Amino acid sequence: MSRRSRPRVIIAGIGTESSSFAPHRTTLRDFGVREGERVLERFPAIARGALDEVEFVPGPVARALPGGAVTRPAYDALVDRVLHSVRQGAPWNGVLLDIHGAMLVDGLDDAEADLARRVRQAAGGEPVVMSAAMDLHGNVSRDFAAQVDLPTCYRTAPHIDECDTRDRAARLLVRALTGAVRSVRAWCRIPVALPGEKTSTRVEPAASLYRSLPDVPGGVWEAALWVGYAWADEPRTAAAAVVIGDDPGAIQRACGSLAGRFVARRDDFRFCGPAGGLRWALGRAADAAAGGLAGPFFISDTGDNPTAGGSGDVATTLAALITDTRVTDGPGEAVWSALVDPAGVRAARAGGVGSSFDRTVGGCFGWPGQVRLRGVVDRVVSDVAGDVAVVRSGRLQVVLTTRRTPFHTPDDYRRAGIDLARTRLVVNKIGYLEPRLHEVAAGGVMALTDGPVDQRIDRLSYSRISRPLHPFDVVRDGWEPDVELFRPHASH
Ligand SMILES: [Zn+2]
Repeated sequence: MSRRSRPRVIIAGIGTESSSFAPHRTTLRDFGVREGERVLERFPAIARGALDEVEFVPGPVARALPGGAVTRPAYDALVDRVLHSVRQGAPWNGVLLDIHGAMLVDGLDDAEADLARRVRQAAGGEPVVMSAAMDLHGNVSRDFAAQVDLPTCYRTAPHIDECDTRDRAARLLVRALTGAVRSVRAWCRIPVALPGEKTSTRVEPAASLYRSLPDVPGGVWEAALWVGYAWADEPRTAAAAVVIGDDPGAIQRACGSLAGRFVARRDDFRFCGPAGGLRWALGRAADAAAGGLAGPFFISDTGDNPTAGGSGDVATTLAALITDTRVTDGPGEAVWSALVDPAGVRAARAGGVGSSFDRTVGGCFGWPGQVRLRGVVDRVVSDVAGDVAVVRSGRLQVVLTTRRTPFHTPDDYRRAGIDLARTRLVVNKIGYLEPRLHEVAAGGVMALTDGPVDQRIDRLSYSRISRPLHPFDVVRDGWEPDVELFRPHASH
């Protein structure tokens, strides 16, 4: 095929992960938009010219930190920007959606299906082949599967295969656009919702389910499995399997088998480390300190983890920490990170280092429950993520931020003036420990705390999910997968 007649594909997308239970709202300011080379950097195989049979053209790719639902004006503005780029270069032979798959938009269900449909319409061409590179924590609806010919997702959590996944989505497009055979796909909703910390692919049963994916029979191009995103109160919320190929019988069998194996193991998904209530976790920390643990003990304050969609304004854990003398008067330094509280940070800055601090904090986005924090302003630092104030209450250092800020590395703490090597107890709004923190942790547990991403999802009030859905309903043994086959888009 000559270069002139190469199929043309535009890369575009809008990606984030949103909890229905977070009072926070994601606005246009929260999105960063990549264009040009910075989009191609996300696809190493394209960037190094390994997929030159197809011309991949970068369009806008917008991404935001997980959080509360995206406002409708923000979504509309981003969609307009994507559609403008798509129309400018139309007609296209293909579209590569670079998305997450668990975005909520105020007043709109199934945002990614809406995006896919509108991009397909704008792309012109006849017929347009669409692929999607996604997070395995996305919710794949029937409508989405009907729009997207070649959807796939990560095979690891924690995610270490983002680039591989995006390259795979690009390769699927190359195969579909340059081969003689068009693909068909089979989709199956899996009636199971699981919190993220139960689906690590480092442990069973996710480990073997995901390990089996590359091992596909003849006629199958790709098998993809989404564990889903449980904190979305939408009809589409569930795990899902999609199998793509050119042999309809083989893909339907593979899809049904994958969904069936997932359902059969639904009760075997467990927290990927020791987990329990906050009081239990503090007891474990005290035991570790009494045992002379060399290095920091971590408690994950999981219910308000900002990188899972927590709002960052939940102060429930702080209320327990400041009344626990094992923490405030303990044998070493303790830290709690981080609470979004712009007014508290401003007050700390105005008062200055060494001034007394006595304010109610928490709930700046609307999460119920404020906490009276009394202490001394230990330091105020300016950071790329906005100002950070550290308020000391005895041996506990409370980190207040102006913006939602994950603490994922020792450097994140160092910028706030905290040396983890000299800290006995680190309570952090996070789920499983990110690798850099895992390296320095002498021990750790997950506390199943309150918040918009409560790991005990049965404590949250859902009203819009499709039933039955495990663990809210009993999915009977002998459940039969309902696999649906989608043919290529003939036209739009
Ligand atoms: Zn994810």
